[in-house]
Amino acid sequence: MTGYDSLLRGSIAALLAAAVLAAPVHAGAADGSKPAKQLFGAAALPAMLAPQPVGFYAKGCLAGGVALPADGPTWQVMRPSRNRNWGHPDLVALVERLSRDAAASDGWPGLLVGDMAQPRGGPMITGHASHQVGLDADIWLTPMPARTLSRQEREEVSATSMLKKDSLYVDPKIWTQARANLLMRAASYPEVQRIFIHPGIKKMLCDTWKGDRSDMGKLRPYWGHHYHFHIRIKCPPGATGCTPQADIGRGDGCDKSLAWWFTDEPWKPAKPDAKPKPKPREVMLSDLPAACSAVLDARSPASAAAATVRAGGVAAPAAPGAAAAISAMALAPSAIPVPTPRPANP
Ligand SMILES: [Zn+2]
Repeated sequence: MTGYDSLLRGSIAALLAAAVLAAPVHAGAADGSKPAKQLFGAAALPAMLAPQPVGFYAKGCLAGGVALPADGPTWQVMRPSRNRNWGHPDLVALVERLSRDAAASDGWPGLLVGDMAQPRGGPMITGHASHQVGLDADIWLTPMPARTLSRQEREEVSATSMLKKDSLYVDPKIWTQARANLLMRAASYPEVQRIFIHPGIKKMLCDTWKGDRSDMGKLRPYWGHHYHFHIRIKCPPGATGCTPQADIGRGDGCDKSLAWWFTDEPWKPAKPDAKPKPKPREVMLSDLPAACSAVLDARSPASAAAATVRAGGVAAPAAPGAAAAISAMALAPSAIPVPTPRPANP
């Protein structure tokens, strides 16, 4: 039974019931005066539409999101109160597959899964610039323990940094071959577009990895990412509303583009500006692809459980509203505009 069905029957009582039911679901979609992060942050359940990433990783939303179950044989979802264990079905399938393969072959018992996307994707109140279209997932560099973590532990347990204190280099006492195996496994899947990882960890892989290096280039050095890594998958085939990111190009990235990260430039404090910068304007619904309004307005499933799936994708038909290509984070290091403050969470 849904508010929508009741509306069709047309009785006053049903109309009132529908209004009550619809309140948390519609998240104020018509209210274009609120920042988009508030509208999408208020949506507790996904848009019941065909699965489709809409727009770009850092400027878009998600139709037909599905949830990664909080627990699987080889994964546990962390920070459940954030309700960010949502994604395109292909992302959910990829995370499950990585968890299985790593447990079977890499000496990594299972994944602790951090942020994926909100139920309807979109900008977040806290945390990330990307993760907006259901194709990004953060995976902790801490292995899953042999027991099921309590709800409270999932909220409070901290991840472990891989770095020596106050350094850009990996602590060999913390680093393990299993972590290297896990990262290279993740990079090996053809649907993985790139992986963000701290430059110190990239250097460790460049210096020590003995196996096939053909996917090494997908591991992209970036600020932050020494407690976790960030997997980004490609736009699913046929998802015409999804804006792809430029290919990473050839090469393993163990070159001067990596050496740049061990210079002062990426880390020195930004120069004090002559004039203070105006606060950047909030991203509004009207800044996102037009189809994101329909995503906010769409009906919800009856419950999160109804949209929680096991592995296996659903065909993604085309949706209108492709955004213009944005090439943030696709730039060569020489052309990286060093941002202020340094972003730890793309
Ligand atoms: Zn991330």
